Amino acid sequence: MTTTMRDEFKTLRKFDVGKGREAFFCSLPALEEQGIGKILRLPVSIRIVLESVLRNCDGQKVRSKDVEALANWNAKSPANEEIPFVVARIVLQDFTGVPLVVDLAAMRSAVRRLGRDPKIIEPLVPVDLVVDHSVQVDFFGSARALELNLDMEFKRNRERYQFLKWGQQAFKTFQLIPPGIGIVHQVNLEYLAKGVLFAQSTSNNEALTIYFPDTLVGTDSHTTMINGLGVVGWGVGGIEAEAGMLGQPVYFLTPEVVGVHMSGQLREGVTATDLVLHITQLLRAQKVVGKFVEFYGEGAASLPVPDRATIGNMSPEYGATMGYFPIDQQSIDYLRATGRSEEQCLAFENYFRAQKMFGMPLKGEIDYSVDIDLDLAEVQPSVAGPKRPQDRINLPDLEKTFRELLEKPVRDGGYGKQNVDLREKHLVELNGSPPRNGEMFSTDKKEDQGISPGDELNKIEMISNRPTPDPGGEIEAESSDVFTHGRTHVGHGSVLIAAITSCTNTSNPSVMIAAGLLAKKAVERGLRVDPGVKTSLAPGSRVVSDYLHKTGLQKYLDQLGFNLVGYGCTTCIGNSGPLHPNIEKTINKYDLVAASVLSGNRNFEARVHQHIKANFLMSPPLVVAFALAGRVHINLSREPLGKDRNGEEIFLRDLWPSLSEIRDAMQGALSPETFRKLYRDFADQNPKWSDIPSSSGDIYQWDEKSDYIHEPPFFQNFSMEPGHIEEIRGARALGIFGDSVTTDHISPAGAIKETSPAGKYLKSRGIEPRDFNSYGSRRGNDLVMTRGTFANVRIKNLVVPGTEGGVTKYFASGEGEEMSIFDAAMKYAETNTPLVILAGHEYGTGSSRDWAAKGTRLLGVKAVVAASFERIHRSNLVGMGVLPLQFPDGTTAQSLGLEGSEIFSIIGLSETIKPGQTVTLEIEGKDRQKRSVPVKVRIDTPIEIDYYRHGGILPFVLRQLLLR
Ligand code: SF4
Repeated sequence: MTTTMRDEFKTLRKFDVGKGREAFFCSLPALEEQGIGKILRLPVSIRIVLESVLRNCDGQKVRSKDVEALANWNAKSPANEEIPFVVARIVLQDFTGVPLVVDLAAMRSAVRRLGRDPKIIEPLVPVDLVVDHSVQVDFFGSARALELNLDMEFKRNRERYQFLKWGQQAFKTFQLIPPGIGIVHQVNLEYLAKGVLFAQSTSNNEALTIYFPDTLVGTDSHTTMINGLGVVGWGVGGIEAEAGMLGQPVYFLTPEVVGVHMSGQLREGVTATDLVLHITQLLRAQKVVGKFVEFYGEGAASLPVPDRATIGNMSPEYGATMGYFPIDQQSIDYLRATGRSEEQCLAFENYFRAQKMFGMPLKGEIDYSVDIDLDLAEVQPSVAGPKRPQDRINLPDLEKTFRELLEKPVRDGGYGKQNVDLREKHLVELNGSPPRNGEMFSTDKKEDQGISPGDELNKIEMISNRPTPDPGGEIEAESSDVFTHGRTHVGHGSVLIAAITSCTNTSNPSVMIAAGLLAKKAVERGLRVDPGVKTSLAPGSRVVSDYLHKTGLQKYLDQLGFNLVGYGCTTCIGNSGPLHPNIEKTINKYDLVAASVLSGNRNFEARVHQHIKANFLMSPPLVVAFALAGRVHINLSREPLGKDRNGEEIFLRDLWPSLSEIRDAMQGALSPETFRKLYRDFADQNPKWSDIPSSSGDIYQWDEKSDYIHEPPFFQNFSMEPGHIEEIRGARALGIFGDSVTTDHISPAGAIKETSPAGKYLKSRGIEPRDFNSYGSRRGNDLVMTRGTFANVRIKNLVVPGTEGGVTKYFASGEGEEMSIFDAAMKYAETNTPLVILAGHEYGTGSSRDWAAKGTRLLGVKAVVAASFERIHRSNLVGMGVLPLQFPDGTTAQSLGLEGSEIFSIIGLSETIKPGQTVTLEIEGKDRQKRSVPVKVRIDTPIEIDYYRHGGILPFVLRQLLLR
């Protein structure tokens, strides 16, 4: 598409793209020459956003005063202005991407109903959707695990995948990367990101090729992984991404930029994972929420891009909008090493040189809002958990910390156990278990269990547990492999899941090779993993498998049960699959605090697995080490992992690979050609994908029989008239929650319980529990998702103290009738009673999840009053027309003594409301006495007022498009 460039500030200049070819760019040095700001002293991340504002300055969406305001960014006191940021592209994963394409399809249907051309709904910037969130670890510990998990994935997700194929043909600028290729952020890093892009434009009737930095937003919080390559981008809600696709700028408040000066070097034995856990703890304490973080200095320059990407990835965990590394030689080297064309690499380097943005800044060269020093030599081997990624524990202290947490009261973040003897274990037989939810643990005696040979379960041949280690060499699984045998002992602290998972770490060859080398040494010394540990390896791209095979290390990982289970998010997103049913029974029976160890980035309760309460994040080699140890209450610096064949004790230090061993193994294992080969024609490399039938046409033919894809009600009865902003009166509390309610508590992604409203609904549609699939996979169906809102089994609604799960009390009559949150919301809807949610600090923390806002809206919630909000969730609430309100410091529902029976009104809301204005929360108690609390309207920007008035971003954008 050709655009028109106004060049308001006359900054268009030529530069050498490479090999003598010239093109244009919007020169920031030229802007500075005009006396507009001290641009060369701005953080690099701010300069890249400034370039977008400058290039897209059209006097309407982006005004010249926006350019001037950002060019004059004041480090110590950034202007309280919103920045209209037009991004170059958008990335999606399937969990968030499917509902987004559903919304686009619903908008097309609405436009057609209004008699207009549905094609006015079309992404205006390139959109890439990577299908990575749907694969689950049903099979593991076998050479066939990958194939069988893929089979299950396609079986479960066929309707969604058919729909995505429709989207692929209906929208021109939409590229889909099918399942089995990789994880969105790793695919972005290794393939999609270009560093610099170009477009055809006209200026003064002259045709120009204009280069500009690669920038993006993604519907996943860990989009920030790409910051490691010098690409500006972060996670937004699906709702904002949709608006971005439809030509709206992404608006955000001018941020502070925290400069983290890195010096020194990581010590021997310390990994990039240890570094990111260190940074997460450091920056959480510095309160960087809503800020950009920029890493710089000699230490940053010494880190290769995969290490930088690991650090960028976990920005949401330290709370920053971005964790950005400026572009330097390492960035160019990475593009070259990953098979990008020479032309692309030259353009990347030359562009940033022309912008005077090439090279890692040194101390004193840039003005940051806050300066932090980090000596890389101080970083220690560590893990983080058991519930929060910022709770870092030095490796030798894990045993002590776990013991303390076991006995610590629940209210202080512990598990509240008393008189625990950690030597106490419970025997679990792993043979002959009955099928569970269709996810069967096969034995070689199926008939004994009454399963006929014709059973679907038999046909699938589900496999679990690992084979007896084969010290002689590579294990070749036969189709008849059924590995359930043996017994295990389970107690508090037993490691029951050990997962090498997540783009955070699997994108980093050094830690993956380290895991392989550690496995090799363990196998050579005759160590094995207990059959009770569910082991898995799920890298974020096929490149990882390529180098693990080339180095000969995969076979050792296989022998410890770390067989490849899929290329996707798996355990990182909670798709860890079932544990052995006897293990689950034992956990329940004895109320055990069992553990998972994983190389992921999040560990909230029930995130990894519903039955596992203690989840520790760590590097891939440590995942292997803890799988071998079988427990987390171990001090690996002085206790052995096990004994070798001669009865000699083996310690972690005996297995840990040195930096030079890792370097040697990596030599020659990675080549640009491998990346080029594996990212070529990937759409055709998965026959299962090719077999999925696809419908065609501009309008999606909604199928009432589908329980995955359903037309959402957002545009039903759509009219061109926006609504009015007015007071909310007579509202009831649907829920009162404490601190750190996550988006997963609000809109769970995992399993659907049979007894939950969503489970009952699916059963009423004739769907068996074994086919429920997860909430994440049903996000294309509002009827399931609304029922699933606040249905996380761990959510604690203080309206019904002492309970867990999505229950509340319906107070419209009497003392309050206990029922599900969904049922209560529907009863309140019968009387048009508005609803509110009351919550503590960090409401909506965790992954960006548009259904956390959409479900809230569809339940009839008009306002959420919280002590504080997570950034993306707050903006998603506004984006769905739900009002976020913030209590004054020190005030909470608990300090006000609220119990849920009160009646709430929000007084002072009107058409003239301003961002950040104070209004009054009026609370009427049972005794009819009224109290007033001032609350701050957390509509942060003027454009958000418009969104709120229109009932959300989507109706706002749709009205704009229809007015054209
Ligand atoms: S692996 Fe984890 S961090 Fe990466 S995209 Fe998947 S869920 Fe997000």
